[in-house]
Amino acid sequence: MTRAAPHVTHEVLNQVPPLAGYDVADDPALTEALRREAPRREAPRREAPRAAEADGWESWEGELHELGQRAGSAQTQELARLANEHPPVLRTHDPRGNRIDEVEFHPAWHELMATAVGHGLHATPWLDGTPGAHVARAAKFYVWAQAEAGHGCPISMTYAAVPALRHEPGLAGRFEPLLGSRTYDPGLRVPDSKAGLLSGMAMTEKQGGSDVRANTTQAVPAGDGYQLTGHKWFCSAPMCDLFLVLAQAPEGLSCFLLPRVLPDGTRNSMRLQRLKDKLGNRSNASSEVEYDGAFAWLVGEPGRGVATIIDMVSATRLDCVLGSAATTRQACVMAIHYASIRRAFGATLAAQPLMVSVLADLALESQAATTLAMRLAGAADRAARGDAGELALLRLALPAAKYWVCKRTPMVVGEALECLGGNGYVEESGLPRLYRDAPLNSVWEGSGNVTALDVLRALARTPGSADALLAEVDLAADGDRRLDAAAARLRRELKEAVAAGTEAQYRARRLAGLVAVTLQAALLVRHAPGAVADAFCASRLGPAAAGNGPGAPFGTLPDGLDLRPIVVRSSPATDCG
Ligand SMILES: Cc1cc2nc3c(=O)[nH]c(=O)nc-3n(C[C@H](O)[C@H](O)[C@H](O)COP(=O)(O)OP(=O)(O)OC[C@H]3O[C@@H](n4cnc5c(N)ncnc54)[C@H](O)[C@@H]3O)c2cc1C
Repeated sequence: MTRAAPHVTHEVLNQVPPLAGYDVADDPALTEALRREAPRREAPRREAPRAAEADGWESWEGELHELGQRAGSAQTQELARLANEHPPVLRTHDPRGNRIDEVEFHPAWHELMATAVGHGLHATPWLDGTPGAHVARAAKFYVWAQAEAGHGCPISMTYAAVPALRHEPGLAGRFEPLLGSRTYDPGLRVPDSKAGLLSGMAMTEKQGGSDVRANTTQAVPAGDGYQLTGHKWFCSAPMCDLFLVLAQAPEGLSCFLLPRVLPDGTRNSMRLQRLKDKLGNRSNASSEVEYDGAFAWLVGEPGRGVATIIDMVSATRLDCVLGSAATTRQACVMAIHYASIRRAFGATLAAQPLMVSVLADLALESQAATTLAMRLAGAADRAARGDAGELALLRLALPAAKYWVCKRTPMVVGEALECLGGNGYVEESGLPRLYRDAPLNSVWEGSGNVTALDVLRALARTPGSADALLAEVDLAADGDRRLDAAAARLRRELKEAVAAGTEAQYRARRLAGLVAVTLQAALLVRHAPGAVADAFCASRLGPAAAGNGPGAPFGTLPDGLDLRPIVVRSSPATDCG
């Protein structure tokens, strides 16, 4: 009898170890921006400074790196996988047929949420008041978004609810301390009795989300509030404690604060009809709801609902830019890590000239997105403390950045995925989840066209916004001749757009792209290493790009650029490669 030869096919060669056990915050574009945008904290007078307050961004950086280590750990990656592979489940009724309208989450979701809330990624900076607190929060949000994107939704909405809620000082005074609390306290109970609260928002109805003035939900005065009757077609994170809701009051569309549990402990009549079966964002629950005479408090002036809730939308838009910059960074880092180890044709992929071009192009996109997102976080921080110039800049630059950065992200992830070849297409690599999540930030909080059109609205209604933008770009004047030419073109196109009025709608995407890319270039010329600024201007501002970024796929950079330092600047600091 002959014996089978020993099985020898199990030797695994040339496979890349997972990217785990690294510090996500080890990201020079991020940490340098944090230092620029968040000034040193002043030590309190007469008192000995507390350690955490003594040394400004150095203490913020300490917390950032702690969170970065956690985000890059294998344990967190496992939590992210579990939270997405065990999506939330709707429980409409208890066993006896009573409505309960609860959503059940995997424990991994709760752990991710507890970390986010514990690090104050939600509403905590509103309680702080220290210059730079919002910038530090933005940096942490960007880092922790790379752990798992889905749970960022309720975190972001809770952050954003505060400026809208401040239109009603009584409600803000009552709930703001709990919205900013670092205690994650899930479960439906009377809001005032909880150790920490989360907030959602409900604007979109079946007949429209962009055109919220078409909302049909009715609000009728009742007691010290209103009774809401109607529906919402998208209401994410329905297990939040409070929701900012738009509804038609007798005076017109108004903003309301709707609690899930009423002060007497009974459930408010907000019925969860079903959960959406979504492309991505699967760890997060997005529901359809009906209000059957649900109780809510008025926020702001009746009939001024859009003007009130826009403060929330503006803050969530900033988080969309930060979140997309985070996804871009994560995809880029995964591609560089893989290509640095995987070999083909006798060398690592990262040593092959064409792959260098692809990786450098992705790295440019990532560094530009991070730099712009953090500049806007700085503007938001200063605007929150009354800086009118920064508010004007934000008014124009934020919708442009939301349009551009969020729209570029799915392309980046698609290209990064391909850097891993077939492995990138397989779920275990983590890139398919990133790919499914990537388009979302462009869809919600104002889809691409709507945010591009908002750039025109800003120009028409906030004339100082164009001057603030141009002044910011001019800070980089004479730094690069291609940038100077782009700045002149931007100045011309902004003027033409104002003159064209509604005729300009057709070109709104081009203009929004031009605003975002020119601002990115100006920031990189001032703050990034020369090789980065040079390659960005050459590839994004050149004649072929026409101010709207490269039309061709990534990896088509012009000749004669110094690409290796660009890739090194975006490489993860890891000892597994
Ligand atoms: C996963 C997920 C979660 C969500 N969670 C929430 C939530 O918690 N709360 C909430 O209120 N909403 C939520 N939304 C809804 C989201 O904000 C809307 O889908 C979005 O605002 C677009 O509205 P719509 O779907 O009605 O599309 P429409 O308004 O019908 O727009 C369709 C398309 O037309 C374009 N368009 C609209 N107007 C114009 C115009 N004048 N000119 C040119 N183009 C135009 C839009 O850009 C879009 O591409 C969520 C959506 C998703 C996908």
